[in-house]
Amino acid sequence: MDNRKKKKSKNDRPAGVHTPRHISFDEVAVPQVNEPMPVCSICGKSIETIADAISEADGSFSHFDCVIAKIREQEKVSENETVSYIGHGNFAVLYKDEDGKYVIKTRIPYESKESYDAMKKYVEGTKI
Ligand SMILES: [Zn+2]
Repeated sequence: MDNRKKKKSKNDRPAGVHTPRHISFDEVAVPQVNEPMPVCSICGKSIETIADAISEADGSFSHFDCVIAKIREQEKVSENETVSYIGHGNFAVLYKDEDGKYVIKTRIPYESKESYDAMKKYVEGTKI
């Protein structure tokens, strides 16, 4: 026999008793960023992740995405082409061939070896 089924559910709960909901947000420990925040030479906003930045010939930095957008404009990249970073300071305009493979159409050396090395040192120096 199950008496619980006969129990009145109406007004069953004592009135006025609410479980206190204590919502506490754990304080998120944000690691202190001590590295200087360079400003993007293209969009003028600060670069928060230096590893995602590209060094310019004059020693300034730009957002990766900003450089891609700039190259897209400069190279008049069409819709079936794409701009991609191919490493060692080089970007390239790529297009898909008949097999759907990306082929380099134009290679765009962007970072000079000197600025690339300086950048690497800079990044390594900030990773303490
Ligand atoms: Zn930018």
